[in-house]
Amino acid sequence: MTQQTDVVVVGGGQAGLAAGYHLRRQGLDFVILDADPAPGGSWQHMWDSLHLFSPAEHSSLPGRLMPAQAGETYPDAGHVVDYLTDYQKRYDLPVQHGTHVEAVRRDGERLLVDADTGTWRAQAVISATGTWSRPFLPAVPGRSTFAGRQLHTVNYRSPADFAGQRVIVVGGGNSGTQIAADLALDGRVEVTWATQRPPRFLADDIDGRALFDVATARRRALEEGRTDTGGVASLGDIVAVPPVRAARDAGLLSAKPLFAQLTATGFRWADGSQSDADAIIWCTGFRPALAHLAPLNLRDARGHIPTDGTRALGEPRLHLLGYGDWTGPASATLIGVGRPARDAARQVAELLR
Ligand code: FAD
Repeated sequence: MTQQTDVVVVGGGQAGLAAGYHLRRQGLDFVILDADPAPGGSWQHMWDSLHLFSPAEHSSLPGRLMPAQAGETYPDAGHVVDYLTDYQKRYDLPVQHGTHVEAVRRDGERLLVDADTGTWRAQAVISATGTWSRPFLPAVPGRSTFAGRQLHTVNYRSPADFAGQRVIVVGGGNSGTQIAADLALDGRVEVTWATQRPPRFLADDIDGRALFDVATARRRALEEGRTDTGGVASLGDIVAVPPVRAARDAGLLSAKPLFAQLTATGFRWADGSQSDADAIIWCTGFRPALAHLAPLNLRDARGHIPTDGTRALGEPRLHLLGYGDWTGPASATLIGVGRPARDAARQVAELLR
């Protein structure tokens, strides 16, 4: 049976919940379909020691401040899951968990949303499926010949899984640095950290708050037609959260340039020397999870869906929320998603009027 609603939100992580908050304020009828069986989006899958790079009060969704976590300046992922679970309940957001959306299709004046549990007919769709379900692995020579374990950030849980092993962590972003630090500080793992270019640490007193301020300043400059201020990329890549700082200051975090190729037992460096490894953890990023939108045929040559803010250029009934800065400055962060969510809900309400 096909169900009817004004708006279907695909994805019930922080972006989907923020969309729900603002759709409710617009008085619209909506449902949020989420593939995970429980609330919390990708935060429920992150590694055990992960902490936010901003204090709680700077990591909040619209309407409700994240409470501080006892004894922690930077809350852990479990605290974020608790916050999102409470948020969903507090605002009575209609999330249907365990519902995977397979396809969004056009059907005359409506969009059809096909899920594994049924079909919805809606006037608009907000896609907020994040990137966690699409880990990216680079094409590195010899990758398929390596006989050891290969994992991505999404599979990493804790150093205990690698006790007594030689592990190479690949990637100079926040995930790679934090996982390399986590393994190195544990003491039971022989860690090599390889990055494509020398790691760029932000100054120790810069955390997510400053990054958000810089992203906001950039948005204002662009909106007012002033010169592009360069955004957060101009500051560096790696937030020196406490464990990263501890590992770096103890001399445990020295990055090597990326190896030339993988071998059956390890890797070969550019100078021809070889090292053995038991496992490789690829911290090489993500791509937006957009497979369900394929029937709409909106992708450009880079695989992105071009948008004006959150609205898809080729389909005004579709909005994309979260994912990355291309759907709004800092829209893939807890504090940053509120504004694009509000804009998307307003535009959907205008469309429906
Ligand atoms: P997600 O949390 O991934 O939620 C997407 C939801 O969509 C999931 O529940 C999933 O089940 C569902 N879904 C996916 N596909 C489908 C489908 N086809 N049908 C139905 N449901 C679907 N941000 C900060 O603000 N502070 C930080 O400190 C911070 N640290 C980070 C650390 C790491 C390691 C990473 C990876 C990101 C971090 N971020 C941080 C960025 C960002 O806040 C998170 O990535 C956040 O989880 C993005 O939220 P989201 O709602 O867009 O996506």
